[in-house]
Amino acid sequence: MIVMYTRLLIGGRWSDSADEKRFDVVNPATGDVIAQVASAAPADALEACDSAATAQPGWAAKSPRERSEILMDCHEVLIEHSQEIADLITNENGKPQADALGEVAYAAEFLRWNAEEAARLHGSFGVSPAGDKRMIVRHPPVGVVLMITPWNFPAAMITRKAAPALAAGNTVVIKPAKDTPLTALLVGKLLGDAGVPAGVINIVPTYSAGEWFEAAVAHRAVRMVSFTGSTGVGRTLLRHSADRVLKTTMELGGNAPFIVFADADLDATVEGAMIAKMRHSAQTCTAANRFFVETPIYHEFVERFSETMKTVTLGNGFDPDVTCGPLINAAAVARVDDLVDKALQDGAKRIIGHGRSDEKGFFYDPTVLVDVDVPSAITEHEIFGPVAPIIPFSDADRMIEAANSTEMGLIAYVYTQDLARGLGVAESLEAGMVGVNRAAVSDAAAPFGGMKQSGLGREGASEGLYEFCETQYIAANW
Ligand code: NAP
Repeated sequence: MIVMYTRLLIGGRWSDSADEKRFDVVNPATGDVIAQVASAAPADALEACDSAATAQPGWAAKSPRERSEILMDCHEVLIEHSQEIADLITNENGKPQADALGEVAYAAEFLRWNAEEAARLHGSFGVSPAGDKRMIVRHPPVGVVLMITPWNFPAAMITRKAAPALAAGNTVVIKPAKDTPLTALLVGKLLGDAGVPAGVINIVPTYSAGEWFEAAVAHRAVRMVSFTGSTGVGRTLLRHSADRVLKTTMELGGNAPFIVFADADLDATVEGAMIAKMRHSAQTCTAANRFFVETPIYHEFVERFSETMKTVTLGNGFDPDVTCGPLINAAAVARVDDLVDKALQDGAKRIIGHGRSDEKGFFYDPTVLVDVDVPSAITEHEIFGPVAPIIPFSDADRMIEAANSTEMGLIAYVYTQDLARGLGVAESLEAGMVGVNRAAVSDAAAPFGGMKQSGLGREGASEGLYEFCETQYIAANW
């Protein structure tokens, strides 16, 4: 039986919301309501901030080694409960069990990496060029951090933020997405079991994100907003954060070009293309959104990629044969369908795919499109679904210009056997991350994040840890 925590986690205690409201959580594979979760009201947001503020000095006063050991215990507890967490992820997000288990391992790794880093938070010491003073630079925690996370990685988007924040001595108030609050609440419970003190992590789902955020961001103790989600919502949060001059990190939308040169190893490229497009049911910010393929191998790539897309098995993520789950909700299906319809109206051809499914649940058939206009709605917007527009190119410079032409710059992929060319093209791409002959790039030890409107700041690596620190410079003489 799957255990679900459905109340707010504030100050280490479970509570109902101040106005006693609840909202439904739906399994996207069946459309069935699987739980009703307490919906935090503005008063609950404020209480969670109070609780984080009360806990923060004590947490920051622990030695780095103590924080490190608690985070290492958190890693172990998440690994021990991998199956339980993966079951909840599949239930509320729909991704296949293999992807859900992969997500839990990825989520846990942020705890291990930051446990190791917690004891290595460095400052610096120097003498001024004029020799008149000693210069000490240290990195205290920011304080209380608001974290707002999306539904596509219900566990990992929480630990990717919370692990470095806690390692640095901050306390956090987390608002998970309303589509996937159950995983967040379970992770919060497990981190408490592993020894994170009451109030250090508070988890407050809500159905009223806007109201919730406006209350929380005005709380005096809040010093930072760490957001992962769409660029549109990111802009709104940045505006509110500006009123209080809060520190922010923004992990926003993507629109990844996947570039294939004629000399690429086609087997490896098709495999990489499938990973970049279809992993986690084609709903990742790193998903390949536009495929640019050099003309000599264009037709062969289209054929082989389409044949492989036909082998995708859509269905309930608990079925071991299923390789792609549903989209997150009915609105997501309508949005993807609309983008495909527009492309078809503009003259694109559908090589495979039957559109939305009549089955229960929110399914969309894997689709390959050719003869797509560039730019057009489907190349300009993040598709967030199993649809692959493939575009031929013969002039590499013009292709790079097209690849860079959107406002997004999260990630890009380049496939070629000429490594010098691969690295050269990587350097000319306006993307925070580039996979060269590599489709899965995320790693707790690597700086994840985007250029342009794909984000501000980085998560993962030591960059991700220092995002949750202030910089204090002390000038001293003795
Ligand atoms: P979203 O609609 O922007 O929602 C993200 C989070 O923001 C959710 O918790 C949402 O709450 C909350 N939110 C919405 N409006 C808000 C408001 N006015 N004030 C405060 N919070 C608000 O994005 P999504 O659909 O969940 O996720 C998909 C997007 O996330 C894609 O664009 C994807 O590329 C991006 N993403 C980026 C990364 C990265 O690392 N760069 C990683 C994963 C996903 P509700 O659930 O209640 O709406």
